[in-house]
Formats: sequence, structure tokens, C-alpha cells
Amino acid sequence: MRAAVFEKFQGEISIQNVPDPTPKEDGVVVQVTATGLCRSDWHGWMGHDPNITLPHVPGHELAGVIVEKGKKVNHLAVGDRVTVPFVCGCGNCEQCSSNNQQVCDHQSQPGFTHWGSFAEYVALDYADTNLVKLPDAINDITAATLGCRFITAFRAVVDQGKVSESTSIAVHGCGGVGLSAVMIAHALGARVIAIDINPDNLALAKQLGASLTVDASQTDVVKTVKEYTQGGVGVSLDALGSATTCFNSIANLRKRGRHVQVGLVTGDHVHPKVPMDKVIANELEIVGSHGMQAHRYPEMLTMIEKGQLQPEKLIDRTVSLEEATQLLPKMNDFQHKGIMVINAF
Ligand SMILES: [Zn+2]
Ligand SMILES: [Zn+2]
Repeated sequence: MRAAVFEKFQGEISIQNVPDPTPKEDGVVVQVTATGLCRSDWHGWMGHDPNITLPHVPGHELAGVIVEKGKKVNHLAVGDRVTVPFVCGCGNCEQCSSNNQQVCDHQSQPGFTHWGSFAEYVALDYADTNLVKLPDAINDITAATLGCRFITAFRAVVDQGKVSESTSIAVHGCGGVGLSAVMIAHALGARVIAIDINPDNLALAKQLGASLTVDASQTDVVKTVKEYTQGGVGVSLDALGSATTCFNSIANLRKRGRHVQVGLVTGDHVHPKVPMDKVIANELEIVGSHGMQAHRYPEMLTMIEKGQLQPEKLIDRTVSLEEATQLLPKMNDFQHKGIMVINAF
């Protein structure tokens, strides 16, 4: 099969012919029809992920069709259109047993723990636990936007944030996760404040339902949010994962508010400063959010089918696998808005 391969971190990514994957007993092989480009792929290429061994094929936000399955796969068939969350649970550990596959003790992540979907075919493990059948109404390119940033935002807003129509919510950082969160919170009827430093991202956030946009390069974010909401927001998301956005997201909460850490913190930002004085005095909650379980997809897919959520609005453009080899090293420059999807292999 054709695959985008890198042989050293921060090195060239080239299209190579490599052996087709084979399914494990509990796994399947999927023919990839569309796959998203994500900043996590850039982190992997940079060498920030200790799970990656070289040579490596990135890619973890995918849609496709099952072409082969292992003998212990019972609930899926060859020909099924499927997608998968970026964290795949083992199905057996304490976390999976309590239906929290998103924090599985033995998780596999396509494009990190094994070769991913920047290829014609990808192997996916523990298929019965992790694969999600796609409704006909959701096309491949849209489905490829779901498995990472969109599900992450859905869990952060719905399950961890517990956002409802009476909630005011601040979203710090309007990349793929942040814009998804704006859309989802707006669909639930919440009042949404979107914060970023990029005017294009803020304009898109406004289109997706933000009632206020705040340019953090021009404004005191915490003061602005507190004034607009007369005391602070009930829920706040750090959707970027930086020391500044994490701090602001906690500091702009009203009393008994809830901060959800969604953006991955890496490098110098791995242990950001927390306004712990406010956490105590105002009884704030701090929770994390990490992907979403396959069994939570149906509620989200129903909202997409009904048109309440329109993840296709987040798609910036489609590209070929060749183009992706050039684009991936530039993923950190913040110059692209929305999600890019590979749909030509
Ligand atoms: Zn991703
Ligand atoms: Zn597990």
C-alpha cells in the first residue's frame, strides 16, 4: 500500500510502498477514505510522543471501510463504514470495565502506538470496543473530522463541562477543538464567549455561534469575560493548552465554576501555573477531558444527522496524501484555520 512515512523525527515525510497491514484476532483492517491532519500528528513528527517508534506512519482521525477482520470480531462486518476515536480501549482493564475507554490503561492510538491512517489501509485493534458504524447521512470527509478534536470537544462540553442552555461558557483557543466546542455549546443553547489571538479564528467562532469574541492580544481576557457575564462564566475550557490560556480559563470562572482542561500541555507548558487561591476561595472545579468513548458517539451522531451540529463547517480544505507530507511539518504555524482532510491516497 501507499503510505506517508517518516524515518526520523523532524525529517522528510515521503510516500512509500509498504506491506499491507493484517488484522489482529480482535482487530480489523480499514481502507481509509478520509483522514484529518492534526497538530497531534505534528507533535508526533517532532518527537514529542514517546510511544512512536521509527519508521512511522502518522494519522489518527479517520473514516473508512472494513476490508478484513480478525476471527474474534463479532459485531462488525467487512463492508461496514466506520470511524474510531483516537484513543482505543483494550476492553478489559479497570477503566474499560467502567466504560471509560478514553483513559484505558492499555490504550492503543493509531498513528502513535502503531502505524496510522496516512495510508491506503490502517489496522485497528479491539474493534468491537472501539469502532463506530457511520450513518449514511454522514459522508467520509465529515466523519474524518470527528475522531479527535470534535469528540474531544463533545466530551469536554457535554460530559465533563455539563453545559446546558443556562450555562455561560468561555472557550480559550479557537483551533479545531475550540471551534468545535463553540459549535457544540451553542447547539446546547449556552451563551458562548470565544477567545483567541487570531482574527480569522474569532470570525469563524462568531459564525459558529459565539455571542462575544475576545482578542486576547488586545484585551484583558479575565476582566472582559467577568464584566460581560457579571461575575464570570460557569464553565470554561482551555482548548489550547498553554500557561496563559489555562490560567485565564480558571481565573475567569464565577464562584463554583468548572474549568475543563482540554488542550494538551507540552514542553514548557506541561505544569502551568494555577490560581489555586481562587480555586479554594470560590470552590472552583478543575477537570480534565481526554477524547471520548466509542459508546458515546450515538448521541453526537444523532445531533449531526439532525443538523444541530455541522462539523463540516470546520473543514478548511481537502488535500492529497502527497500534499499532506508537505503540510504536516508546518502544522504548528497557526496560519491555517479549521480542519484539513486528506481524501486522495
Ligand atoms: Zn487529532
Ligand atoms: Zn482498557
